Amino acid sequence: DGMTIVELAKRTGESISALQDILVNVGETVDSEFDPLGIDIAELIAMEIGVNVKRLHSNVGAELLPRAPVVTVMGHVDHGKTSLLDALRQTSLAAKEAGGITQHIGAFVVRMPSGASITFLDTPGHAAFSAMRARGAAVTDIVVLVVAADDGVMPQTLEAMSHAKAANVPIVVAINKCDKPAANPERVKLQLASEGLLLEEMGGDVQVVQVSATQRIGLNDLEEALLLQSELMELKARIDGPAQAYVVEARIDKGRGPFATAIVKAGTLICGQHVVVGAEWGRIRAIRDMVGKLTEKARPAMPVEIEGLRGLPMAGDDVIVVESEERARMLSAGRKKKLEKDRLQKVGEERMEIANPSEEAPERVEMPIIVKADVQGTVQAVTDALRSLNSPQVFVNVVHVGVGPISQSDVDLAQACGACIVGFNVRSPPNSVTLAAARACIKIKIHRVIYHLLEDIGNLIVEKAPGTS
Ligand code: GDP
Repeated sequence: DGMTIVELAKRTGESISALQDILVNVGETVDSEFDPLGIDIAELIAMEIGVNVKRLHSNVGAELLPRAPVVTVMGHVDHGKTSLLDALRQTSLAAKEAGGITQHIGAFVVRMPSGASITFLDTPGHAAFSAMRARGAAVTDIVVLVVAADDGVMPQTLEAMSHAKAANVPIVVAINKCDKPAANPERVKLQLASEGLLLEEMGGDVQVVQVSATQRIGLNDLEEALLLQSELMELKARIDGPAQAYVVEARIDKGRGPFATAIVKAGTLICGQHVVVGAEWGRIRAIRDMVGKLTEKARPAMPVEIEGLRGLPMAGDDVIVVESEERARMLSAGRKKKLEKDRLQKVGEERMEIANPSEEAPERVEMPIIVKADVQGTVQAVTDALRSLNSPQVFVNVVHVGVGPISQSDVDLAQACGACIVGFNVRSPPNSVTLAAARACIKIKIHRVIYHLLEDIGNLIVEKAPGTS
């Protein structure tokens, strides 16, 4: 399992004695440089010397069993992603058993009468998908591409296709709103085909299903198509042994601390285990399923909410199991240090760019922004989307992010740094806050669609610096 110091030295190009010094610094002792180090220790050392390590969980000798597919729903705004997820959620047996009630934990499982199941990520849209992928979390196995039968292929349909393609994730097309008189599924198919999607009925391997989310038509066909796709992919996972999981959503509950929804990719997560989640750590105090029921364990493809973390992780963070609290603390501290180092380096690079603008480059306009959103996953997605506006002329400086409604303290901070405040999927702030913002000439922008938000901020940038963009 573990690597020896000698091997680590060979792989990293550091001297054995330098590595031994680091070992002593992190409070570890090994008798001989030929003794294997634990994986956590190897990761710590690697972080100290600034190399990235990827944990490769060995599946050698472990029994691999079929697992449920994890599915993300993408498509153009208003084509029915949310409605489709709502409809699918209600087909879940677990939801039925719980009287139709599922908690919003960022994912849900549909269990089919055959015993097979499908896990759906409950954050529609490609922003969340790409935010996860940007953090290295390959969680999605299949993308459901929703296209409204009366509207056809639109810009975000194409974007979703590109995202799926870039991530090498197969698509199942759901032509939605087929109940509408203006529905024209055949036209949609032709459009998709002309965009290069190889549809099954035209000799390709992309399945197409016609549905109506609101009339609940074709949901079963869609689920069957997803199961067929997943059988073709032969999705398998190791069931036994330490869990490897990813955070899909995180939130803070007043008084009860941080909660994270995670989907296990391999192994089994067990209550009571010490974990490192991204740069945070903790001991799992409780595991709950999608209807809020306490459970002892989480197996592959099962979304669960875990309680007991010391800080708020981010969507896309990995969850790893370590042997003790000591280890958890140490790894978390190491990862935080590395994050901070990376951040400083980035800031440094940005400063350099500002300090040495190339000759013809016009002055770079800075756009300080505060981001507030409903859940951590959205905060992340919005922040990443805003940063995508950066260019040699424009510096979108996200000065603060947070989960929850826009508050007086956000306004205070905005005033201090001349920022505008973006609220995504949050309610309008209370009147007192709106008034305070108006008095201080602070712009508050509330949006529910990333695309509209980017358009709006784009306009602000142009206002600030005529001639940009
Ligand atoms: P999203 O932006 O892709 O999440 O789209 P929504 O799920 O919010 O749906 C946008 C609008 O289309 C809403 O008014 C829905 O009620 C409506 N809608 C969604 N699915 C259907 C459908 O199958 N048939 C009809 N007639 N309307 C639908």
